[in-house]
Amino acid sequence: MYPKPVKEFIEKFAKLPGIGPRQAARLAFWLLNGPEIIRQDLKNAFESLNKDIKMCPLCHFVNDGDDKCHFCDNPARDRKTICVVEKETDLVTIEKSGVYKGLYHVLGGLFSALDTAIPKNLKMPELINRLENKKGKEKFEEVILALSPTHEGDLTAHYLEKLLRPLKVKVTRLGRGLPYGSDVEFADAQTLSGALESRKEIK
Ligand SMILES: [Zn+2]
Repeated sequence: MYPKPVKEFIEKFAKLPGIGPRQAARLAFWLLNGPEIIRQDLKNAFESLNKDIKMCPLCHFVNDGDDKCHFCDNPARDRKTICVVEKETDLVTIEKSGVYKGLYHVLGGLFSALDTAIPKNLKMPELINRLENKKGKEKFEEVILALSPTHEGDLTAHYLEKLLRPLKVKVTRLGRGLPYGSDVEFADAQTLSGALESRKEIK
């Protein structure tokens, strides 16, 4: 029905989270009918994402250089607590709630029910390394698993807890307030601060 470039645009954009074929088609025509500068700006933004964004070598949050990010590099943060999140946008939601002052670790995904081994994209070995490499006064004392209360979040938390047990670090998970099946990313600040404050130790 559509010419090839439009069809391809729709196919590519329909794969993005939260966008289906109908929204992708609307986007395509909105962009086509709008001024060229919008298409040019978007093209530049995509290119910049592709080449200018790096990852913090410690927490794997996005960064614009090769060094540590502004969380890992900030001496004012509580360096004894590490908060494990599924994705960057969860970190941003937690940070905006204003109650958490420790460090982060972005896993880059969650276990799914079909996984039989650690999915390669998950930064679990990197988390273990961070915990093992810190000794003495700098040692981490608590790992907060700020994973969404879903089946995948539960599977991941369970696996991480087993993995962390030999390291003898306190492992906690977000407490009350977050309804089952919800996503950390979309929690409001009040719910999230309540969940952080009522976090429970996993034993
Ligand atoms: Zn970092």
